[in-house]
Amino acid sequence: MWAAYNVNVRDYLALAVILKRCLSLGATMAKSKFEYVRDFEADDTCLPHCWVVVRLDGRNFHRFADKHNFAKPNDSRALRLMTKCAQTVMEELEDIVIAYGQSDEYSFVFKRRSNWFKRRSSKFMTHVASQFASSYVFYWRDYFEDQPLLYPPGFDGRVVLYPTNQTLKDYLSWRQADCHINNLYNTVFWVLIQQSGLTPVQAQERLQGTLAADKNEILFSEFNINYNNEPLMYRKGTVLIWQKVGEVMTKEVKLPAEMEGKKKAVTRTRTTPVPFHCDIIGDAFWKEHPAVLDEDS
Ligand SMILES: [Mg+2]
Repeated sequence: MWAAYNVNVRDYLALAVILKRCLSLGATMAKSKFEYVRDFEADDTCLPHCWVVVRLDGRNFHRFADKHNFAKPNDSRALRLMTKCAQTVMEELEDIVIAYGQSDEYSFVFKRRSNWFKRRSSKFMTHVASQFASSYVFYWRDYFEDQPLLYPPGFDGRVVLYPTNQTLKDYLSWRQADCHINNLYNTVFWVLIQQSGLTPVQAQERLQGTLAADKNEILFSEFNINYNNEPLMYRKGTVLIWQKVGEVMTKEVKLPAEMEGKKKAVTRTRTTPVPFHCDIIGDAFWKEHPAVLDEDS
């Protein structure tokens, strides 16, 4: 009896000592002498009320496109994969109201009033870049069934703040104008190589100093191509905005009893990032989708 009691007291004391050590260790960990290194972290809070734009760009994608046999001048699989990744970013992260992509780049616009991660620039940028890059690898096979992914792609990111709706619209217009300029050039450049047998250097020389009208003329008179009939995805890039869509899904039916276990098609609405290949430089798009720039959205 006594022996048992003594053991219990000893156990209790040992436990108390361990508990005390844990608590004091916790206290020293919370306030160690190394704590001051925190002060070296730079404040990278994005200015309040500004639109936060994160733009990603594929690292060395000229080489990546060559190694993976991308079609020239545009590979629709690659563009659709980029958009799938951007949709995943919008679904997984918070507060992205619109995204715009072309070629190997995508821009994501966070709400003016977003307080995600206390508006820390590095958090916005790294979350977008890592989610996008992992999605690119994850969904690769859905778009390139016969083309194995030979090495892991990378994306750089940057954060830019735009203080007004106008500067944000001008930013997006700038990217879409860039898409147009590059795509027109690339369309003529590759048709000269693929259909006229020019070398890349010869095609480049042929296009030196030409204006948009000259390029359109070459396409039309020499190759019977009306540039305006080229796919919108290539000419305009891709805009992603949130839209309500009806989704048909099958659901287990509860009642009546004789129907139990049977599946039934049910339609419900869901908000999802929907791609558009339209002009965003003019006012029409913004008038049609006023919610995108709504201050309180
Ligand atoms: Mg690039």
